[in-house]
Amino acid sequence: MLDSILESIQVVELPTKTSFRSVQSREVLLIEGPAGWGEFSPFLEYEPGECVPWLVSAIESAYVVPPTPLREWIPINATMPAVNGEENIAEILSWFPGATSVKVKVGLDKREDLARIQIIRKLIPGVKIRLDVNGMWSVDDAVDFLEQISASGEMEYVEQPCATEAELRELKRKLSIPMLIAGDEIIRKSTNPIQLQLDGVVDIVALKVAPLGGIKRSLELAKHFNMPLVVSSALDSAVGISHGLRLASAVLQLPYACGLGTGALLAKDLYELPVVNGAIQVRSMTPNPQILTQCAVSHERMDWWRERVRQTWHTGADKWIAKEGWLS
Ligand SMILES: [Mg+2]
Repeated sequence: MLDSILESIQVVELPTKTSFRSVQSREVLLIEGPAGWGEFSPFLEYEPGECVPWLVSAIESAYVVPPTPLREWIPINATMPAVNGEENIAEILSWFPGATSVKVKVGLDKREDLARIQIIRKLIPGVKIRLDVNGMWSVDDAVDFLEQISASGEMEYVEQPCATEAELRELKRKLSIPMLIAGDEIIRKSTNPIQLQLDGVVDIVALKVAPLGGIKRSLELAKHFNMPLVVSSALDSAVGISHGLRLASAVLQLPYACGLGTGALLAKDLYELPVVNGAIQVRSMTPNPQILTQCAVSHERMDWWRERVRQTWHTGADKWIAKEGWLS
């Protein structure tokens, strides 16, 4: 079974427009199967154990027909990496036409973070700001920053302000202002997210298809947490994004614009997913063959990726897939 997957794979390297997570390009492995295309693109430093759900998700995408969509257009937020200066910020915002929510990456430098938010508020009056801290703040840092930023304008929510469950509980107790907290890493880095109880820890759950092991698993988690949710991505190519759109189209309630516009941060993508009036349409597509050729990686990188798939498979993806019965 693994052999037939390895036979169908292609790997491309897609350049980004701007440094994001200190990445200047994104390597993406593609699997073609009877149900379409799947993307396997865990960040390069991830160990095989962390890659398992990503591979399961890619195989699900290629072999399992997605759920029936309940909506055709998915509202998206703009994503603002940790860049500075009004000109740079305005340019990035222009890549997300019509988006009324902006997710701002913060946590590295408080002064620069506050300035970045101020500029966005000036450029888009009435903008909804959500912060993404990737768990980098201590509880005191978080209280300090959030109270300061709330005093100067409204906030939509803050994603993963602190890393651990205990810190997030403490933060909720210490905050003297109303502030919604979304959980991201606490869910996707958990070895068994279905066992997590997040009441009193977060108010919103961020779901990312690939690190959670696919659409079916994400829908199970949505049901389990029974909280408002937001669907997001991990700087995926259009193939990965299309499965995020599928998930967002299948959940019962979609109260927040989704983090699925990140294709705008890539200088080249596998197909066009234009942002129209702040939303992206859910559609089936196949990768542009020209981009597949243009962005194909070297033989050495292909071998590296083949080996990564093999290791990930034997680290637990094999058992997970066998249980689902997708390849039988
Ligand atoms: Mg996040």
